Amino acid sequence: MPGERLLYCGLRHGLKLPYECASGTCSTCRAQLISGDVESCWSDAPGGKTLRPARNELLMCQSMAKSDLTIKVRPGPPSVMPLPVPRILRGEISNFQLLNDQVAVFDYDLDSPIDYLPGQFVTVSVDGIDGYRAYSMTDHKDLPTARLPFLVKKMPNGKFTEWLFSECRNGTQLQGFGPLGRAIFSSDLDGDYVALVGGTGIAGIMAIIRNSIRCGHLDNHNATLVFGLNGIEDAFFLSDLHRLCDENDNFQVAIAFTDMSGYESLQSRFSHFRFVQGFLHDASQHVLDDLSNVSVAFVAGPPVAVDASRMMLFRKKKFSIRKIRYDRFG
Ligand SMILES: Cc1cc2nc3c(=O)[nH]c(=O)nc-3n(C[C@H](O)[C@H](O)[C@H](O)COP(=O)(O)OP(=O)(O)OC[C@H]3O[C@@H](n4cnc5c(N)ncnc54)[C@H](O)[C@@H]3O)c2cc1C
Repeated sequence: MPGERLLYCGLRHGLKLPYECASGTCSTCRAQLISGDVESCWSDAPGGKTLRPARNELLMCQSMAKSDLTIKVRPGPPSVMPLPVPRILRGEISNFQLLNDQVAVFDYDLDSPIDYLPGQFVTVSVDGIDGYRAYSMTDHKDLPTARLPFLVKKMPNGKFTEWLFSECRNGTQLQGFGPLGRAIFSSDLDGDYVALVGGTGIAGIMAIIRNSIRCGHLDNHNATLVFGLNGIEDAFFLSDLHRLCDENDNFQVAIAFTDMSGYESLQSRFSHFRFVQGFLHDASQHVLDDLSNVSVAFVAGPPVAVDASRMMLFRKKKFSIRKIRYDRFG
């Protein structure tokens, strides 16, 4: 399609292309232009900093074809199971609701239903703001569905989130692309899992937790979530998580605050939770000391928290790379 990003065009046609963020911040979708002309949608994309101009490298997620092209691409990583083929999405914002002054939930109501796997995300864009932003679906039920539930954190000076939080945007049209992402809960998973998440990294993990409860996985296996937050004023979703703990003996939650001030006020309301101090990777290391037989670790959130947690799992806990499924939110 005219103006379509190379990555989206290839994925839409079923090609197994490499990507992570699909929105310009990582450089996983780099490719080499062999012949033809491309136009960059975002010449300052952070993911473009490591491209080698002498090799005519480009980011497939930020490049559009201006002629027929030949590009050289590494194959995408193998997936644990067949993934739904993504497509262009159209729909509108509905049910926008603030959870605190920094975090909101809303639904992306699509013109036609899609299928996706727990842990996947889509990218969205709105007229007047350049580029796509990635958001993970927070639940996974009644599929195929035309309603995608999102959790969004307002970023300081963030163009999309400042716009989203500035007034009620229900009814505004968004263009999207998806579903995307390989950090999924798959039906072949046989064993306990842990989820290490920082901030809004909880979004896709909520879909994984809810799905693993609904499909009966937690009847015979354990799941442990370590939810990293800066301090109690940043907390959200605690009531939902506490209810899930209450209803499921095999689901445990540790809340890791970098600043523990005032956490005592949460202890009586959330008696099932363990409260620990430290950055996500440090706090998780102690929680993991009490666990054995973990088959898979899901890791999601800010890149710095995800990278440190992956390193901790690999170096200190001897997890193989194959056992770590992650999404870096940036
Ligand atoms: C896989 C994945 C899943 C995510 N899931 C969630 C989630 O569930 N909840 C959540 O709150 N956040 C999530 N994020 C982060 C989210 O996508 C945004 O980075 C965040 O909302 C900030 O957007 P902003 O426009 O406010 O900030 P900005 O700093 O203005 O923009 C941030 C992002 O927008 C894109 N962008 C910015 N400018 C341009 C431009 N000129 N042209 C093209 N693209 C541009 C880039 O991707 C950039 O990193 C996720 C990120 C990833 C990669």
